Amino acid sequence: MPSTLQYEQLNEIANQFKTPVYVYHAERIREQYEKLLTAFQGADTRFFYAAKALTNINILKYILSIGCNVDCSSINEVILAIQAGFVPKNILYTSNNISFEEIEEAKNLGVHINIDSISNLRKFGKSFSHSYPVGVRIRPNIMAGGNLKISTGHVDSKFGVPLEEIEEVMRVVKETGLFIRTLHIHTGSEIKDVEVFAKGIEVLFDVVQYFPELEVIDLGGGFKVPYMPDEKGTDIELLAKKVKNEFDWYEKKFNRHLQVWFEPGKFLVSEAGYFITRVNVIKKAGNILFAGVDSGLNHLIRPMFYGAYHEIENISNPAGEKKSYNVVGNICETDTFAENRLLPEIREGDYLVFRNAGAYGFEMASNYNSRFKPPEVLVKEGRANLIRKRDELDDLLRNQMEGI
Ligand SMILES: *Cc1c(COP(=O)(O)O)cnc(C)c1O
Repeated sequence: MPSTLQYEQLNEIANQFKTPVYVYHAERIREQYEKLLTAFQGADTRFFYAAKALTNINILKYILSIGCNVDCSSINEVILAIQAGFVPKNILYTSNNISFEEIEEAKNLGVHINIDSISNLRKFGKSFSHSYPVGVRIRPNIMAGGNLKISTGHVDSKFGVPLEEIEEVMRVVKETGLFIRTLHIHTGSEIKDVEVFAKGIEVLFDVVQYFPELEVIDLGGGFKVPYMPDEKGTDIELLAKKVKNEFDWYEKKFNRHLQVWFEPGKFLVSEAGYFITRVNVIKKAGNILFAGVDSGLNHLIRPMFYGAYHEIENISNPAGEKKSYNVVGNICETDTFAENRLLPEIREGDYLVFRNAGAYGFEMASNYNSRFKPPEVLVKEGRANLIRKRDELDDLLRNQMEGI
C-alpha cells in the first residue's frame, strides 16, 4: 500500500500551522518515483520531473536527492533547478512560444532544450549549427485525455511543430546543420489509456528515419493518477511493457538504439499533496447545504478551471452522519469545489482536506481578493517542516511603488 498521511497528523499540522495549508509527503513522492523505476527496469529510460507541478525549492531538492532529473517550463524554473543543485545535464527545458533570447539563455546554462517552433529551430540552427544538440517538440495530432483544456497534442493545439511540417524541419536541418538529438511529444495530462502513448511512439517511429543523429525519444508526461475513489490511473506496468516491446522491436528491425525519456509531473507529486481548509460558515439555502471554507479559487483553482474532481474528507468528524454538501470558497466569484458531495456531517470550525493537491495546487495559487497565499509544509520521516511561510501584508505590497 502506498503511504498516506493519517487524519491525526493532518489535524496536528492544521492546528500548528493554521489553515489553509498545503501539506506534502516526501516518502510518497519517492514511492511514486520508485514505482516508475521498478516498472521500467531493463529499459533505457530517464525520468525528468515536470517541475511546474510543484516548484518549491525544497521539493526540487528532494526530487534531486532521490535521483530523479528535472523538466522545466520556463527559464526561471531552469534557474531554480540549478539553485536546487541539479547539474545541467540532468535538466531539460521544454517550453512553448518563448523568445529566442530565452532559448539562448538556456543554451548558455548548458541544459537540454526541446524547441517547439520552426522559427526558433531556424534561429538556433543559424546561431549554433551543429555545435549544440537539441530536441524538437512534435505535435502528433493525437487527442489525449478527452479534455480539450488539458490536451496538448491534437490538431488545433498551439503546442509543438505540427507533424505535417516535418519536411520543413528537415529543410532547416539541412540548411543550418542543426543537430537534432531528441524528438519530443507531450500529448496532454491525465492520459489513462496506454494506447495513446503507443500511438505517440508509432507516430515518432515513422519519422525517426529522417533524423540520422537522433538518440532520444521523449514521450513527455501526462500519466493519470486516480482522483475519484474508484478511478484508475495509468497502468504503469502495462505502459512499461509496451514501451520496452516497441523499442526492442525497433532496435532489432533497424539496428538502432534509442533512449526513452519521460516527464512526469502529476504522477510524482499529486497524491503526495493535501490541502487543508477550515469551514467558516454552514449555510442552508433551499435544499442546498453550503460548507464555506477559508479558501477558494485563489488557492486551488483546478475544480473551477478544469472541472477537476478532488476527494474531500472531513478530518474533524470522520464518523459523522453523511449529508450532501456544496463545498464552496470565500472568494467573490463562484468558486465551487464540489457539488452534492456526500460527507460526514460538517460543523463550523471543522477541517476539510482536499486530496491529490500536490500537483498544480499551490503552483496555480494567486493573491486574488488580496488574500494571502497559504504556507507549505513538507512531512519527511514523520516530521512536519514548514517550507514556505504564509504570505503577509508586505507580500501584497511588494513591488508596488509609493508616492506617485
Ligand atoms: C506539464 C508538462 C508535463 C507534465 O504533465 P503531467 O500531467 O503533470 O505529468 C510534462 N511535459 C511537458 C512538456 C509539460 O508541459
